[in-house]
Amino acid sequence: MPSDVEFRRLLIDLDDEMSNDERKRFIFLLGNDIPKRKRDEPLVDIFTILIDRGRISESNCNYLVELLERTKLTALAYKVASYSTKHTPSTSISTVLESSQPTDNTNVSSTGTIDNVPKDTPTLAELVNDINSEDSMILSESEQNTPTDIKPMTVQPDLASMFLYLENIDLKVFENDTWSDDFLKKINVNIHPYEYQRELVQSAIQAGNTIICLRTGGGKTLVAALLLKYYSIKKMALSKTEETKFLGFFIVPRRAMLKQIFEKLKTIGNLRILACDEHYDITKYLKSYDVIICTPQKLLDCLKAKTIFMSDIDLLCYDECHDTVVRNQYIGIMQYIMCRDVDHIPSVNSLPIIIGLTAVVGLHRSSPLHITNHLTVLCATFNCFTITSVLKEDNEAELEQYVCRTSEDEIICITKQKKFDMLRLSIEKELRNLILQLFLSKDTNPLRIFPEKDIDMNGYEQNLEMLKQSEQKKQQFPSVILINYILAIYRHLRSLADLTPDLVLSDLKDYFEMIYKSREHPIAVDTLIYNKCQSLLKTKLTQLEESEQILLNPKLDKLVELLKKHTEKPNSRALILVERTFYAQKICEFLGNHIELKCTIKPCWLVSQNGPDSKKSNKKEDSVLIDFRNGVYNVMISTDVVRASLDIPECSLVLRYDFVPDSIGTVQARVRARRTNCVYYLITTKDSQNYIKELDSRQCEQDLKEVLEIWKQIPSHEFKERVVEKQTSLIKEWSESLTKALATERIVSENTELIGDVLCRACGYHLGKLSRLRQYEQSYFISDHDFYNRIEEKLLPEPKEYVATLVTGKALCGSKNCRAKLGCIQMLKHHSSISPIYPLKCESIKIKLFEKENGNETMILKKQWKQMLFKIPPLEISCSENDEDIYYDAYDVVQTDV
Ligand SMILES: [Zn+2]
Repeated sequence: MPSDVEFRRLLIDLDDEMSNDERKRFIFLLGNDIPKRKRDEPLVDIFTILIDRGRISESNCNYLVELLERTKLTALAYKVASYSTKHTPSTSISTVLESSQPTDNTNVSSTGTIDNVPKDTPTLAELVNDINSEDSMILSESEQNTPTDIKPMTVQPDLASMFLYLENIDLKVFENDTWSDDFLKKINVNIHPYEYQRELVQSAIQAGNTIICLRTGGGKTLVAALLLKYYSIKKMALSKTEETKFLGFFIVPRRAMLKQIFEKLKTIGNLRILACDEHYDITKYLKSYDVIICTPQKLLDCLKAKTIFMSDIDLLCYDECHDTVVRNQYIGIMQYIMCRDVDHIPSVNSLPIIIGLTAVVGLHRSSPLHITNHLTVLCATFNCFTITSVLKEDNEAELEQYVCRTSEDEIICITKQKKFDMLRLSIEKELRNLILQLFLSKDTNPLRIFPEKDIDMNGYEQNLEMLKQSEQKKQQFPSVILINYILAIYRHLRSLADLTPDLVLSDLKDYFEMIYKSREHPIAVDTLIYNKCQSLLKTKLTQLEESEQILLNPKLDKLVELLKKHTEKPNSRALILVERTFYAQKICEFLGNHIELKCTIKPCWLVSQNGPDSKKSNKKEDSVLIDFRNGVYNVMISTDVVRASLDIPECSLVLRYDFVPDSIGTVQARVRARRTNCVYYLITTKDSQNYIKELDSRQCEQDLKEVLEIWKQIPSHEFKERVVEKQTSLIKEWSESLTKALATERIVSENTELIGDVLCRACGYHLGKLSRLRQYEQSYFISDHDFYNRIEEKLLPEPKEYVATLVTGKALCGSKNCRAKLGCIQMLKHHSSISPIYPLKCESIKIKLFEKENGNETMILKKQWKQMLFKIPPLEISCSENDEDIYYDAYDVVQTDV
């Protein structure tokens, strides 16, 4: 029997992992279960006796778990318990599931992205986004639904420079010749591009569709901007009519990059450019702008809704076209060009030019064959048959000379301090044990859930997130509570390497207290876990205090030292980049309270804007940036590489605090540092993941070079053949999945009358009927005059004011044993009669949808409202404001709420 073999292997593992002492203690505890004369035998024999006597078996490990727990071998006990949960026929468990769970979960198609075949589990990308967007361990004040004051960024060239004398421009020069100052003046370009950039532009024009490879810092965006200009001039020059208009899209993978790309494209002159953030309707701007910068999803939505047609677009530029996170959206757009046999796709008369931009073909240590394959797929995906890179020797030399490499940054490796490390490891161990014990105990983990991964493995956190989502779907509230606690402990555990033990433990304690106390009637599991955690944390904190040897983190010490030296210079600014919002906040607190720094350092911190659903920048955040620029603060700690390093010329020190961002971030930080000659450091330790990651990203630069060398060896016609072949199979694959996805979508959207319920994602508490769900601008809420009874209002001491609304508080789950945050309370200034509304955060709710056709019930969990497969009706604002069904009296709510 194969499962028996697995069980025996598990026992062998136990044997391997026990020390001699532990083995002795374990056997000692067995007592009379083992005959005296056998007690000195190897553990394998002891296990054999236990199996023969029926004490342990493949289907019953309880005895073994108990013994191991008593021997204080928590990790091993955990291992056996999680094994046995996976392998025992789950009779008792499944009945629990069924009785408390009337929903049929077998056909759940909830996490499927719109452009793809539905899948059951979230993709890694979704998880990464998820984690980025709720990176903080603190409840953040700003919300997804917080209205914004940002207008779309637009540029309209002033009239003087607007007009190009098209007849004077020789496109042949643009295409083939050197560019004199006179020529550049004619096309109204005020920057003189490098020769290597000219080579790239001209090769790209030759190639038509192409992927431009240029290493970080080389100025790809300028190359793209020049191409946009070329194609727009060409179109205008060739056209005979007045109405001819150029339309290009510049697609960026992250919203945070909108501004930065916008600033760069702006410098090119004549083009009317618009950076379109999530909440603006692109279609309104099509006629008045030449280039629209947006995220792929934005364009994809328009193509899907048929408000934009591929035929209308002259040029599509994909930034960071290798980016795997947005790969599906990029493909989604390409499907509108390539999957012409699918019914839904409108026919395309004229194809847009495709330009892909990339700096990373990160494939080191791959075989040449692998590399060629990768390039083939990349090209096939973007309908390109060639790659454009700097080939001329002179130009390569120029690139070397003028564009410096990230490898010039100084890495400061902190040497280990034995005392600190011992303390850190011991605390880590206790927190790790706490996590294992919470999973192990039948009281705190009544439904016996275990994550697939071990706590020391990479991706443990994502694994927990995934488990949480599946428990939410199954409506298992106790498990959700358990995982929430564990996630917090785990995140804090990891931060021990970067912060002081005292900061970490006291924050965890306060956090648990805040969360727990917000629930009037916590469920039994909640209380149990809470008490367990608090008692451990209290003990540890007292121990730390009593030991009187307050140990700081050596990395923090180094930071303090560098800052001390740096702030001696007049009017200096330092930027510290960290991995998590939590670190930013805590380090800011730490520096602010540091005795030696108190007089010289004025720290502030800035929240990240990354992630599709994260908070929008509001006045307060922007004022932090302005105050930093003006010198009100002289040290800024931030997680947002892109925004933080936007044009702060005063900044003279950029310091990454054990933080190695993705390639984009590195570029940003680099470009800035180079421009202002500021010092640039990475603080890390030699054994850290980040040190390896940093070396890796340096390797990437080297790789690009090698990848291009390999590519150059392939004859161009041969490469083209391979791409064509790959493309045929891709198109087939895409068309199939697209047809399938569209069919599902149709079923859901034809089901016009929505039957179902909106529930709290954490606990399943009923919030309202799905048919009452309404959309008003960016807010989605339940329009029901009874709604305030379903939630707990928590008012802010002072309302936050925005252009059209006031946010007066938070809305928490109405269940007294949950109190999860659901959204905010909003007063609409122009519609006071319907205020307040309670916009719900999509990530805090789930929808139980009843399908009429087949009688199935589906649980839908999405990250964004826009991803819902059905249309949510807009709020009808009628003239008669007495319509009781929709409107309710604001004062009613305020007065009854206590
Ligand atoms: Zn709830």
